[in-house]
Amino acid sequence: MYYLVMVQVSSFEELISLIKDRLDIVDVVSQFVALKKSGANYWGLCPFHGDKKPSMSVSPSKGIYKCFSCGAGGDALNFLVKIQNREYKDVIFELADKFGFELPKKFHAVNENKNIKKDMLLACKRAAEFYHEELFSSGSDAKAGMELLIKRDISHDIITAYNLGFAPNKYDSLYKNLKKDFSDEILEKAGLIIKSNNGGYIDRFRNRVIIPIRNENGEYVAFGARAIKDGEAAKYLNSSESLIYNKSRILFGMDTAKDYIKEQDGVIIMEGYFDVISAQSHGVRNAVGSCGTALTPEHVKLISRYTKSRRIYLSFDTDKAGINATKRGSAVIKETLSAIGNVKQFDESHISSVSDDKYACEIRVVSPPQGKDPDEFIRNMGGDAYLEYAKNAPLLIDFLLNNTLKNKNEAKTPQEKAELVSQIIDILKDVNNKIIQTEYVKMVSGIIDVDEKALIKELAKAGADNDYHFRVQDSNRNVTNSSQLEIKAQKNLLSVFLTIDSPLSYMRLNELLPENIIRDEKLIIVKNTIDKISCTINNVRELTKELYTQFIEDDSLTQILTDLIGYSEAFSGLSADEFERAVRENISRLNRLYQEKEKKELQLMYKQVNDDEIQALKMQMQLRDKLKLRTGD
Ligand SMILES: [Zn+2]
Repeated sequence: MYYLVMVQVSSFEELISLIKDRLDIVDVVSQFVALKKSGANYWGLCPFHGDKKPSMSVSPSKGIYKCFSCGAGGDALNFLVKIQNREYKDVIFELADKFGFELPKKFHAVNENKNIKKDMLLACKRAAEFYHEELFSSGSDAKAGMELLIKRDISHDIITAYNLGFAPNKYDSLYKNLKKDFSDEILEKAGLIIKSNNGGYIDRFRNRVIIPIRNENGEYVAFGARAIKDGEAAKYLNSSESLIYNKSRILFGMDTAKDYIKEQDGVIIMEGYFDVISAQSHGVRNAVGSCGTALTPEHVKLISRYTKSRRIYLSFDTDKAGINATKRGSAVIKETLSAIGNVKQFDESHISSVSDDKYACEIRVVSPPQGKDPDEFIRNMGGDAYLEYAKNAPLLIDFLLNNTLKNKNEAKTPQEKAELVSQIIDILKDVNNKIIQTEYVKMVSGIIDVDEKALIKELAKAGADNDYHFRVQDSNRNVTNSSQLEIKAQKNLLSVFLTIDSPLSYMRLNELLPENIIRDEKLIIVKNTIDKISCTINNVRELTKELYTQFIEDDSLTQILTDLIGYSEAFSGLSADEFERAVRENISRLNRLYQEKEKKELQLMYKQVNDDEIQALKMQMQLRDKLKLRTGD
């Protein structure tokens, strides 16, 4: 085939580098976005958010794209990976093929892995087909399987759409069927067979209804298997994790739901396979399931790619276990998205004075009163009734409050009442906006008949505790979450390393930079990576290219890097003297910001600990030292 033109490459790094040299940012972006030239750059509608006017700029000279609205940015390879939503390694292999690069020898292992994955996917697909056919066989076991589905109102159409199947009550029916086409190794790796006691292999699933699990691209990667009789040891068995199945990254029904999640800008998360199947087949098309595992940060990231408002509906069982799952799930969502901003905590329609903040996410809870789980509810009441509930679903905070307030009549003794109040404080203390918090206090105090002022006092206590611990921790660490102003100043300073035709060497720049001047966690990573790379590369273009490669799997670092390249423009064209002066000015500015902040923190701590005299004295001295330091500067 390509033998004559194949280029031998010695390492994966070299391969990426060669591929990047062949990618032209304008060509690459133009394949997906209509671009218009304006000055030195090109502009187009950003494909990563609902862009109304062209916010994305493409710079052919810098080889990068950047959206000034949503912040997305990176180089050509990053654009290809992001827009196709694919693993970067797959994109690299595809481009290597296209450009005629022969993969490095030591990469054959990875390549082999790729072939193994391919075979595993194929084996799973064939297994799904086998199980599906078995469901329609005339044996009495299969009939029991079919009855179970019919009892759950699962029609023939649904069986076909989800390729539901049946694993016969024999030890080797699937194995016998597949072993002529697949090696034992592949079948075992795919989780279809397991080693038996006598050394041979047997089917993993026997006498169970089979629910095939597909990844977001619709490829078969695993199976869920439900026992025919309710009394059996394990109601559900699942495939174990494999090269193609990472259960913390896969959501059941994602392949059929993803377009609807995008279209409706929201996702409904359920627990069970049959919840999702019932929902999707009754018109609740944006439902997915976290089957067999609790919601993970990877799940949250996966769905965030499809709903840009990150509107997430949790729809678990309405029993106690379901409420706990709701609490756990929402904690994971908040934690995962905390870097972006706050959770939406109030419906605007309820209060007029709230500004239209941008939210990190919106979590709502769908918990209809009838029916224990979404599957039952939808089958009894229909998909439209469910959608109506979803439309009016309360925000997480309202759901939690209602759920706590439900028990208010059981709290009779002062102790019980105090316990109730503490549960409520626990929910309300997470509300960041003080106006909203006050509104909630008013509402709650009326309902549980506790003085509004007492509630506010408790809330202030809980909040102060939080603040205090946070700040003490904060000032004890050099790595902090800096304010926006500080981040900007740090980025500005760091960008000097990426200035094209800089008159100063990396060594000189590093001499100029005081220790500890970069304090933001992410920016420290960027700085350390620059230090590492600049030992071998002494050219800004090569440096940025290599940095993009190193950060290829981290979107936030890629965006920071793109920002830095933008900031670096301010330093270009300066003489060595001017450059050095600009760097020094930036350093002093940043130092001033840090000192201001430390002073404020100390003042605050001083105010908070003035009950404790010795501690207060210590702080006072520290504060005095700081102020002295500042004036002596
Ligand atoms: Zn954008």
